[in-house]
Amino acid sequence: MSATLPRVTVLGAGFAGLELATQLSEAVGEKVRVTLIDHGSAFVFGYSKLDVMFGLATPEEVRLPYDRFVKPGVRLLRERVLAIDPATRTVRTDAGTHEADYLVVALGADYDVAATPGLADANEFYSVAGATRLREILPAFDRGRVLVGVCGAPYKCPPAPSECVLMLHDMLVRRGVRPQCEITLVLPLPSPVPPSPETSRALLAAFEERGIRFLPNRKIAAVDVARRIATLDDGSELPWDLFLGVPKHRAPAVVEAAGLMAEDGFVPVNPRTLETRFAHVYACGDLANTGTPKAGVFAEGAAKAVASALVARIRGQGQADLYAGRGACYIEFGGGRIGRVEVDFFSGPKPTGVYHEPDLASRADKEQFGASRKARWFGL
Ligand SMILES: Cc1cc2nc3c(=O)[nH]c(=O)nc-3n(C[C@H](O)[C@H](O)[C@H](O)COP(=O)(O)OP(=O)(O)OC[C@H]3O[C@@H](n4cnc5c(N)ncnc54)[C@H](O)[C@@H]3O)c2cc1C
Repeated sequence: MSATLPRVTVLGAGFAGLELATQLSEAVGEKVRVTLIDHGSAFVFGYSKLDVMFGLATPEEVRLPYDRFVKPGVRLLRERVLAIDPATRTVRTDAGTHEADYLVVALGADYDVAATPGLADANEFYSVAGATRLREILPAFDRGRVLVGVCGAPYKCPPAPSECVLMLHDMLVRRGVRPQCEITLVLPLPSPVPPSPETSRALLAAFEERGIRFLPNRKIAAVDVARRIATLDDGSELPWDLFLGVPKHRAPAVVEAAGLMAEDGFVPVNPRTLETRFAHVYACGDLANTGTPKAGVFAEGAAKAVASALVARIRGQGQADLYAGRGACYIEFGGGRIGRVEVDFFSGPKPTGVYHEPDLASRADKEQFGASRKARWFGL
């Protein structure tokens, strides 16, 4: 440990990294040197990709520039992480080397497009670039079969593909072309939101009302753009005119090279403390395998637990809070109505979810969710 202020290096300024750096700044800003590293220039909420894709917001409107993230005790560096040595807590970037007393790896999940043959030539809507491309393509689509297909689980924000088909339905209705279009959703889960049967039932009813076909327990194994065919993992083929994919997820390659990744593609951690097998090295957010969903609200919850552990160590007193594994997700049900599901992964013997019916008033709650983070992290 350095004789001067303890050094905390946080890799990735996403939901987890931003919240962790904010908490450390608030609690022990004058007693710590936090280095937050991200190769991007701005943060974008996951759900904003749906807004961009469906033309409800421009890519520029949803960017939250990192130069607005200014916190005592924290410096945010725009650098690309090239190598991590978890044994010595040393990180090499394209701009230099950083040594840390505590290292937190929060680089999010990467998209493994190559894992699904043909997907590289098709459309995906899980990145800002993919959503931005679709924003140009969707307004010109006026007849045929749309296939929204997920290529592997776990994937970010389990309800997002369901939201996508409901928002797509609305868009096609608005443009008067819905009768000439078919919509199919392929999901590698038994139901749209497995921890909450009530939420799943409501989504299935919404699909049924709108004539959306739902194929559970299957994933996209290959896409043939020339023939416009998707092959599912059971060998069956589905023809499409417009394919909207969700790539398989995995921890970034730099995390695998560091020896932090397990065979399932994610980082094994103690699910309640986010500790990796290396001393003073934590992993939190989408790349960590805690058994909880890959969602911003869960990444934030995990970051809070890591922050409380670091604050206790830095102060030399107090106890760390465990990661609660609880969070509320807002779900776009179409027609501007928002539903909500509160899921709890650790309190009982199995995960549970409490469903709140969709309504227009809940849109204000979702907006408040985003606005409160914007204000807290970026002062916007
Ligand atoms: C369509 C869609 C809808 C969603 N809707 C919701 C929702 O409604 N509610 C919700 O809670 N969640 C939602 N999510 C999920 C949410 O966006 C993620 O779960 C969340 O962002 C994960 O946080 P994280 O900190 O783990 O990773 P991220 O937020 O992905 O942050 C990781 C950061 O690491 C950086 N990085 C990666 N590699 C490097 C490198 N080598 N060098 C430097 N920096 C690097 C990246 O630039 C990034 O900023 C949605 C996601 C999608 C795709």
